Amino acid sequence: MQSDDLSHIRESVRTLCAGFGEDYWLDMDRTGGYPSDFVEELTRAGFLGVLIPEAYGGSGLGVREAAAVMEEVCRSGAHAGVCHAQMYVMGSVLRHGSEAQKQAYLPKIASGELRLQSFGVTEPTTGTDTTSLKTTARKDGDVYVVNGQKVWISRIEYTDLMLLLARTTPRDQVTKKTQGLTTFIVDVKQASGNGLDIRPIESMINHHSCELFFDDLEVPAANIIGREGEGFKVILDGMNAERILIAAECVGDGRYFVDKASAYARDRVVFNRPIGQNQGVQFPIARAYADIEAAALMVDHAARLFDQGADCGAQANMAKMLASEASWRAGDICMQTHGGFAFAKEYHIERKFRETRLYQIAPISTNLILSYLAEHVLDLPRSF
Ligand SMILES: Cc1cc2nc3c(=O)[nH]c(=O)nc-3n(C[C@H](O)[C@H](O)[C@H](O)COP(=O)(O)OP(=O)(O)OC[C@H]3O[C@@H](n4cnc5c(N)ncnc54)[C@H](O)[C@@H]3O)c2cc1C
Repeated sequence: MQSDDLSHIRESVRTLCAGFGEDYWLDMDRTGGYPSDFVEELTRAGFLGVLIPEAYGGSGLGVREAAAVMEEVCRSGAHAGVCHAQMYVMGSVLRHGSEAQKQAYLPKIASGELRLQSFGVTEPTTGTDTTSLKTTARKDGDVYVVNGQKVWISRIEYTDLMLLLARTTPRDQVTKKTQGLTTFIVDVKQASGNGLDIRPIESMINHHSCELFFDDLEVPAANIIGREGEGFKVILDGMNAERILIAAECVGDGRYFVDKASAYARDRVVFNRPIGQNQGVQFPIARAYADIEAAALMVDHAARLFDQGADCGAQANMAKMLASEASWRAGDICMQTHGGFAFAKEYHIERKFRETRLYQIAPISTNLILSYLAEHVLDLPRSF
């Protein structure tokens, strides 16, 4: 793969995705199934290892290329939420892991031998206020003993490894609330049933999210990623990449909706004319198109900054907000264009509509992005 040739990447991803048509995804959604075949093929083709350096068996490309992969997956009608975390979670291991940890995990993640698909941060009682999380990890010799609870942890039943954020120093014993948190890499298969209880959450989309209960789970001290007490930095580091990639997924969803709406508006004849001949039908689709293209520019801008190693917090956040809102509006227009047929599952739109709604809430909600921009970019007074 050439890093400057995104059209080549896009074409290859499209070809791969064509083997997994929309009925495949409809079936997954209906049955709550996990698309192992798809994830394995994406891994085998090297697309999930795009960000892993060549020295560790990956392609060594940038977030711009990774964004192109995620966008095309979504544009094909697939749900990238089944595998996207691996792209950005491994960045924490890459940037903060020891050489021994990188050697142990990254080549196996690149080859598909190990899946690193889960990221355990959110808790039921503290939500977005991450630094108030209550899960603790207490050092006991060579291990840390983890107790607490997490919620909405996705793909945990289909992963080998999870990055887990827990408090190792009580909040009242640190000067800054971001201190005293530690990131661990957890062997999920070993932990499950041995201090980790996993309970699936029945939810609106097929995202395989679960509640996790930790009851004296022992995690080796050697599994700390980065330094003890500095886990917030480890997690934060991957968040800009996560926002850019999720934004790219939204661009893919948005383009999917615009393609579908345009095609239907050209074909569907009512009152002896294609519905798309009516400007009342055309204009909302044209506006959705313009919104998505504008968001795509911000995604590309943020990705380029990220790949240059420049500060891209504001751009990554704006890309995520603009793209998630644009994809939702495009989905709404696509629904409207299809009339009653929008509700028929065989048209696939309602599934994509549900899936794209997530991204105004997770991984970070719109209000929190606005708050970031207000405080950190516009220098407005701190709210919380
Ligand atoms: C399908 C799904 C998959 C997920 N997967 C994962 C995962 O794999 N790993 C993981 O760790 N988490 C995951 N999450 C959790 C997700 O990141 C959180 O749901 C999200 O960050 C919002 O947190 P919350 O739900 O606790 O909302 P809350 O923090 O309770 O916020 C609720 C609402 O209040 C608003 N709000 C809160 N405080 C303020 C404020 N000060 N000012 C203005 N508005 C405010 C928020 O914007 C939001 O709209 C997932 C969630 C879902 C639904």
